[in-house]
Amino acid sequence: QSARRFAAAHDPALSRDGVRVEVAANIGSLADAEEAVRCGADGVGLLRTEFLFLERDSLPNAAEQRDSYQAIVDALAGKTAIIRTLDVGGDKSLPYLPLPPEPNPALGLRGIRSGFARPEVLEAQLEGLLSVKPLARCRILLPMITDVAELIAVRALIDQIAAQLGVTERPEVGVMIEVPSAAVLADQLAEHADFLSIGTNDLTQYALAMDRCHPGLAAQIDGLHPALLRLVKLTVDGAAKHGRWVGVCGALASEPAAVPVLVGLGVAELSVGAALVPQIKAQVRELSVDQCRQEARAMLGLPSAQAVRERVAAVWPQP
Ligand code: PEP
Ligand code: MG
Repeated sequence: QSARRFAAAHDPALSRDGVRVEVAANIGSLADAEEAVRCGADGVGLLRTEFLFLERDSLPNAAEQRDSYQAIVDALAGKTAIIRTLDVGGDKSLPYLPLPPEPNPALGLRGIRSGFARPEVLEAQLEGLLSVKPLARCRILLPMITDVAELIAVRALIDQIAAQLGVTERPEVGVMIEVPSAAVLADQLAEHADFLSIGTNDLTQYALAMDRCHPGLAAQIDGLHPALLRLVKLTVDGAAKHGRWVGVCGALASEPAAVPVLVGLGVAELSVGAALVPQIKAQVRELSVDQCRQEARAMLGLPSAQAVRERVAAVWPQP
């Protein structure tokens, strides 16, 4: 049974009623990219580029970055990599990139904000990304975007750097939806983005005002909270106005209890740890998306994450 499941992992995940759900992998290295291919991932839904910047004493230049991104794109053998720009700042600091100490790191200079504070870092990374070939296999994902003005500013920077490099193609550009304002403004963002990717780890912490690292709150930080489900729906509806697709790359996508709910809310891609790809694909194949939609709609009205989990367990009992 498990051998059959693994073989099928390389096939697309179609629900019982014929809806395709992309199951991609979250990776943080070239070795992870190779594992993603072995596990049958449909692509890379999130490459966290922090690995290139940590454990060294100077900034990697554009050429070094290009080589790393190119190696990952090559390893994917025709599949697409969604590569996120650097998400440091706040609590994740780099010794050679001094940023002011933060009284409240989660609400400070992190993600794209540290890119705006240190434009030479963002520019070198975009130069590395725009040098990957073919550019159609590489999509750029922007972390911690708050509103459309930030997205337009990065798009202009991409155009400027591409022009300097003599690159005429443009990679697709997506926005992480991980700040509540971005979910609220999803329709505006989708007008200027090629896709949206929900980061449930941060979106949950910011929507519920609970530190994702707080040990005492761990049990309450639940991405199946009805408030989060409504933010996912808002994102999907906003994206649909402009014909854009929405993925989830936060840890919630890897949770079997969340898979039918996210699919029912209209999420088109689940990006999960590479080793989980076969299992999540197998789960999608057992679902009726029509039933997921009906159930998810009802869950938007439930009073708590616990109530959502109880309903999920009643409708889709886990083996
Ligand atoms: C997220 O916030 O859900 C996410 C995928 O980004 P990270 O966990 O790297 O902050
Ligand atoms: Mg995040």
